[in-house]
Amino acid sequence: MKEFLCEVCGKKMASALSYIPSEVSNGWLGGRWKWVCGCSVDTELYYLDAEDVLNRLDEILNHLAEKRWFDKRRFLQAIERYPSKIQPNA
Ligand SMILES: [Zn+2]
Repeated sequence: MKEFLCEVCGKKMASALSYIPSEVSNGWLGGRWKWVCGCSVDTELYYLDAEDVLNRLDEILNHLAEKRWFDKRRFLQAIERYPSKIQPNA
């Protein structure tokens, strides 16, 4: 996996994709997906291992689609920020 820094602290390599709810807007629905190193463990609502995201994207999308807070567009925007060649089928 390529080196890619955490979008929260910017210090360590990102190893997971986390959904971090926003306190200022709509709570869960106002959250953001960020690639993280593990420093957001206290604030994240949901956590996906980066390798799982890259290798099992379709499966993960199907699973997340059942969550009422899931915003697919924002999720795919986060996927696109990851510096690798993966392309979701969706
Ligand atoms: Zn971090």
